[in-house]
This record gives sequence, C-alpha cells and structure tokens, in this order.
Amino acid sequence: MSFQYVHEMPSVKEIMQTMPLSANLKKLKQKRDVEIKEVFERNSDKFLLIIGPCSADNEESVCDYVSRLARLQEEVRDKLILIPRIYTNKPRTTGEGYKGMAHQPKPMEEPNMVKGLKAIRKMHIRALEESHLPAADEMLYPGNYPYLEDILSYVAVGARSVENQLHRLTISGLDVPSGMKNPTGGDLEVMLNSVQAAQLPHTFVYNGWEVSTTGNPLAHCILRGAVDPYGTNIPNYHYEDLMRLLEIYKKRNLANPAIIVDTNHANSNKKFHEQPRIAKEVMRSREHSKTLRNKLKGLMIESYIVEGTQKISENVYGKSITDPCLGWEDSERLVRDLTEYV
Ligand code: PEP
Ligand code: MN
Repeated sequence: MSFQYVHEMPSVKEIMQTMPLSANLKKLKQKRDVEIKEVFERNSDKFLLIIGPCSADNEESVCDYVSRLARLQEEVRDKLILIPRIYTNKPRTTGEGYKGMAHQPKPMEEPNMVKGLKAIRKMHIRALEESHLPAADEMLYPGNYPYLEDILSYVAVGARSVENQLHRLTISGLDVPSGMKNPTGGDLEVMLNSVQAAQLPHTFVYNGWEVSTTGNPLAHCILRGAVDPYGTNIPNYHYEDLMRLLEIYKKRNLANPAIIVDTNHANSNKKFHEQPRIAKEVMRSREHSKTLRNKLKGLMIESYIVEGTQKISENVYGKSITDPCLGWEDSERLVRDLTEYV
C-alpha cells in the first residue's frame, strides 16, 4: 500500500463554524431554491441557464464573472433564471491534469486538499455575496457535499460518475435539483437508471455514518452528447434525440421528468463557439412539441470572460484552463437572445 496520510481533513462542523454563511445569504438561497424548484414542478414557465466556466480556477475572475451574470439576471428576470456554474472539482479523462480548485487552490502549485476545501468554500461564499445568485457545482466527490450544502442550488453528476452507486445514493439525500448526465458512451438508459436510483430512498454508509435518505424527486437528465467506440462525436441535442429521450423517460414513471441540454462537451465537440447555434436549435425544437416545451427546462453553457482555452502557465485573466468557453460578449448576447424563445 502506498497511501501516505498527508493531512486529516477538517470536519464539516469545523468548516461551518469557521466559515459560516450569513443569515441573510441563507435566506436568499432558500428563496432561490423555491424559485428553481417551481420550474421542475411545473409551477413556473421560467427557463434555466446553468452558465459559467468549465472550471472555477480563480476566485477573482470567477467573482467578476458572476457579478456580470447578476447584472444580466436583472435584465432577463421575467424569463430566465441564471445559475452560475462554479465548478470546483474536475473529472479528468485519464486522471492527469488540473483537478480543480478543491485539489489545487493555485493551479500552478502542488495539490493541497485542506487548503483546497477552504478555498472553494471561500470562493462560493464570496460569489454568492457579490452576485446573490446561488450556484451549481459538480458532485465529483460525494463526501464533499456537506461542506457546500448550504450554498449550492443545483448539483450535477458528470458523465464519468453517473453510473457510480455512491453518487446516485448521495443525490437521493439532496433537496435541490440534481442533473444526471448521460455517460460518455451516450447510453440513455444508464442516465435514466441513475435518475431512478436518485429518486428512491436509500440506506448506506456516508462519511463514516450509516445514513438514510428519502429520495430526490428533483433528480433529472442532462444530455451532453457522446463519443462512440471509435472516438467519433455523437451529439444528442437534436429534436429526434430529445423526443426519443422523452419516449423512454415516460416508461419509467419518474417524478418531475426534466431535460437540461449541455451545449458544450460532446454536443459541440468542444467547439465552444457553436454553443449559441446549438442553444437556439434546442429552443426552436421546443416550439415543435408541447411536451418537449414542458419538459425541457434549461441549458448548461460553458462561458467565461475571455473566450477559448489556455495552458495554465499562460495566466490570461478570465480564460478557461480546462474546456474552451464562450467569451463574455457572446455569452451576454446569447442570454439576451434566448429570452426571445421563452
Ligand atoms: C463539465 O461539465 O465540465 C464536465 C466535465 O462535464 P461531463 O461530465 O459532461 O464531461
Ligand atoms: Mn467542461
């Protein structure tokens, strides 16, 4: 065994005591949770945009970005709910490369998980303070959820984790909407199995405890495109894909069936500048079917301040160091354009 026990992680209690969320922000988040929940429960016609950088790599530029989103949110508030993507831990295809702020608070420096945990909570609190927009993060490490539970209004389970039992069982204990992505190979039944598992009650071991959950009726699907066994990209955002998913979704009798379309990743083949076209195609598809209109609740968009992607060492402010993102001007234009379809 080569494990070296480097640092003991601080307990949830310790982190909550030393880095608390103010009562005001707690209230604000609860109010926002209700607004977002209403979209999934069909008591609201607003459309969701989960939008932000692929990875939240730098507190300054992330907070700058979410403050811009906050101003835009005011403008589009009658139609859209903006949920900033503040992704603090990154799944890596081969395990190599930057694994997110939770691992490396400074992308150029060595991993430090204790500092990483504190850095992500600090950034999330500051982003909420400055934007008043509760965020989405990916659940890559299920055990970390209690450290951010009071802050997040949306959680996604990524394409590489969606078949994992612990992710599914953990989501069953959350009371915020949780998007289960299709796996990288594109199997829609695997995604639906995941939604089904997350909606059921479970008893399991979590963070050193036997826990029980009541199931999460707000667990739903995210289509992110796929890659076939030969490495070819297969988008799954076209009208036919969406209708096919609705068909098989119906057979499961799940609570609050809902679809979010991720416009980047294997849907754009990481051609980030295709995202506005893809987003608008999805919105037009919604117009062809009332069922689709009711169930397609939002889009996930990768967007940052400067468009594209860079090597970590380049250090351009507000430019992604993981997947390429849409730049701010194009993102702003896209958000405004999308109001026309809602
Ligand atoms: C992401 O959202 O940046 C991501 C890694 O997504 P996926 O799990 O779909 O690859
Ligand atoms: Mn990404």
